[in-house]
Amino acid sequence: MSFTALLSVSDKTGIVEFAQSLQQLGARLLSTGGTAKLLAEAGLAVTEVAEVTEFPEMLDGRVKTLHPKIHGGLLARRDVPSHVEALKAHGIDTIDLLVVNLYPFEATVAKPGVTLADAIENIDIGGPAMVRSAAKNWKDVGVVTDASQYAEVLAELNAGPLSDALRFKLAVAAFNRIAQYDAAISNFLSAVQLDDSRASDEAYAPTRSEFPGQLNSSFVKLQDLRYGENPHQHAAFYRDLYPAPGSLVTAQQLQGKELSYNNIADSDAAWECVKSFDVPACVIIKHANPCGVAVGADPFEAYSKAFQTDPTSAFGGIIAFNRTLDGKAAEAVVKQFVEVLIAPDFTPEAQEVFKAKANVRLLRIALPEGGATPWLQGRNAQEAKRIGSGILVQSSDNHVLAASDLKVVTTKQPTPEQLQDLLFAWKVAKFVKSNAIVFCKGGMTMGVGAGQMSRLDSARIASIKAEHAKLSLQGTAVASDAFFPFRDGLDVVVDAGATSVIQPGGSMRDQEVIDAANERGVVMVFSGVRHFLH
Ligand code: 5GP
Repeated sequence: MSFTALLSVSDKTGIVEFAQSLQQLGARLLSTGGTAKLLAEAGLAVTEVAEVTEFPEMLDGRVKTLHPKIHGGLLARRDVPSHVEALKAHGIDTIDLLVVNLYPFEATVAKPGVTLADAIENIDIGGPAMVRSAAKNWKDVGVVTDASQYAEVLAELNAGPLSDALRFKLAVAAFNRIAQYDAAISNFLSAVQLDDSRASDEAYAPTRSEFPGQLNSSFVKLQDLRYGENPHQHAAFYRDLYPAPGSLVTAQQLQGKELSYNNIADSDAAWECVKSFDVPACVIIKHANPCGVAVGADPFEAYSKAFQTDPTSAFGGIIAFNRTLDGKAAEAVVKQFVEVLIAPDFTPEAQEVFKAKANVRLLRIALPEGGATPWLQGRNAQEAKRIGSGILVQSSDNHVLAASDLKVVTTKQPTPEQLQDLLFAWKVAKFVKSNAIVFCKGGMTMGVGAGQMSRLDSARIASIKAEHAKLSLQGTAVASDAFFPFRDGLDVVVDAGATSVIQPGGSMRDQEVIDAANERGVVMVFSGVRHFLH
């Protein structure tokens, strides 16, 4: 087999070995400066593109391959006689395989303090041009845009010319890569605010707004889903181009039925909530709301407590743990109907327990590591909500409340136990849809009121749920995700049995609510932060 391959790569991983194999298969190698040098040093026979174009690489590499001798060789259709004649007339050789990866624009702009000049220099021009030419002419040219594709390409070449199927697949991947690359450039540049007072472009460090003027996102399809939120809706599941470690999309499904749209949404809610605890915790989710959250000495204890909050609602729930699920906890969980079970790992005993329940989906997700707040890893920096013909984007609610942030506003001070319960309740309230009222005691939820249009109703519902679960709310700590606008909300939770309350504060009538708390003899602390969630 004799063919021509052009190699021009910034990420030189595996390129020498790949080129060696290509040469052994009969390829003539063309290459640009840096890549050619590397290949020649490895003892390969390589022709510089500059020799072909009879033009030196110029303008600091801005112009290397932008030449009819290169683009003609990539774009000419081999089955169209006039194309073939044109090549002949102008002394242009065909190029059959293009191996290009682009200047590292994404990595450059990810560096702190990147200058605009640096970013601009890392916009590849000739690379994407060649990739587009080759991908457009996919019937005749194979285009390799990532080192991860080398093995598959070699496997086919070893048996003969590349198949239509692989060339087409490579072309699609190539256009996807170009779309991602251009999106990264567009996102970066449209968030830059030029400051004319700066003297030199070289020294110019762009001020960037958190949100670009143009929002271009790249997502990679993971799978089609059977249907969406309802059976008449079509749906698919995409992940970020660069998913954060420890995020739901990195989950490995060990067993069970295919995940549904609602399973995935609820699993995300469960996982985000459970990984916010640094001691063993369990979260049970139904319809995106926690119906039981608890911490304990081990997964078994955490689950048993979480389940007690609302055994009725826990039926068919999504359950997440932040510790390896062991056999003992698995034996307890398997007694209830569970849709999805999520944990950083499952012991062989735990896996054995679920073997008999083939439908239960087990998701293994490695807990993100590192940093002072590991749970913040693996969360999206931004979240988005689609509205009619638009999108609302905000930075994620990553606020972490420390005990030292609390302001005690009542004459009564919290006991250490109350303080612990208040912080626990606050953590849970953040993951409950607004209006959220969460009663807690001893590291477990005792009553959760979620998603009501009135805070009073959320409080009432939480008490009703506690009653159903035969839990006493006497002496509980209660969290309200937003301030009490009047004293009536406070009265309802104190009537139900709460003796300590955490809320953001900040209402016009704070004093009325503080007076009420003092009058009722309970502790109240302000967090200074609101956690609406819709
Ligand atoms: P090398 O290290 O071989 O000198 O350069 C490889 C890089 O140059 C590749 O990332 C490739 O996409 C890029 N490249 C190839 N031709 C051109 C061109 O004409 N202009 C620019 N700006 N980049 C090119």
